[in-house]
Amino acid sequence: MTTDMLKMTDLPLELRERLAAETRIGTLQQMRIQTADEGLTRKALFQLPSGEVVESVLMVYPDRATACVSTQAGCAMGCVFCATGRLGLLQNLTPGQIVEQALWAARELKGLRTEGQGLRRSPHEKNHSVLGPQSSSLTNVVFMGMGEPFANYDRWWQSVERLHDPRGFNLGARGLTVSTVGLVPGIRRLAGEALPINLAISLHSPDDALRSEMMPINRRYPIAALLDATRDYIAQTRRRVSFEYVLLQGKNDRPEQAIALADLLQGMLCHVNLIPWNPVPGTPLGRSDRARVLRFQQELVDRGIACTVRVERGMSIAAACGQLAGATAGEAISLATA
Ligand code: SAH
Ligand code: SF4
Repeated sequence: MTTDMLKMTDLPLELRERLAAETRIGTLQQMRIQTADEGLTRKALFQLPSGEVVESVLMVYPDRATACVSTQAGCAMGCVFCATGRLGLLQNLTPGQIVEQALWAARELKGLRTEGQGLRRSPHEKNHSVLGPQSSSLTNVVFMGMGEPFANYDRWWQSVERLHDPRGFNLGARGLTVSTVGLVPGIRRLAGEALPINLAISLHSPDDALRSEMMPINRRYPIAALLDATRDYIAQTRRRVSFEYVLLQGKNDRPEQAIALADLLQGMLCHVNLIPWNPVPGTPLGRSDRARVLRFQQELVDRGIACTVRVERGMSIAAACGQLAGATAGEAISLATA
């Protein structure tokens, strides 16, 4: 007996996904929805049968719609700049619970499309709704919500396969992106998978001492081991990887650190995504100001490293990267430290 309709394999997959989208036997109970960015960013809080909570975010753009989903409740990795990391690991999500978050996002998007007029117009196309034809259905799922996907590899990968299944969600592998804190065995395993999804690696520092201070996992898999695995991954898959780099004022955002980063990544098929840090109350950390972000980017670009600065979404509802903690950030931290 299962309450996961996606597992009712005696029913056709299309019917299962429709049932899961339109009925409520799913294991995630929707507790709250918050919206920001004129309705184009939406965050959902779900309760699991165990009572733990997870969050998911839908971000709508003129040409695409992205769901950012959680793979665990809490996270064991303890990165000092991340709200989820303060919770510790509470629970691994099942494949059904991961897919259900994408189904929520797809439903939400359908609702937006029906509401239609309430949406702001795209500044570039004044006569079109921001929901252009290509964003009428979910185009991307990023595993960048709560948790470390590679610490829940098997279940997470099953969710990837379901999201990709042409008889089901039918998302292209190119629309799926996993972000890892840098678990080397996971990177090696992903390199051998047939489905070519995108890989993003949270690097955040060009030197081991600082990276270990920010991300305790660096003591187990230091930068050299991480980059070896990444080079092997690129050689095997011929795919470009993305390095995420959260900028913290005075910690990892100095021009010399950008130069050291460029040296480390020289010659790799990669791209750097700079992420302005989203404040997590109760930490002594600070967000790099705009001038420092742009200088850091310039140093990388001058050395031939492709580099973009992530556009921020959902700041006002604590739905941005690293702010998901199952409550407002303040509540979560008092829960975590209680
Ligand atoms: N556990 C995975 C994926 C979830 S976190 C990982 O760490 O990669 C997704 C991204 O958000 C990571 O790059 C993470 O370092 C970053 N992040 C964490 N806290 C953040 C914060 N407060 N502001 C901005 N980015 C943050
Ligand atoms: Fe976990 Fe990623 Fe947060 Fe680190 S940044 S604590 S790995 S969710």
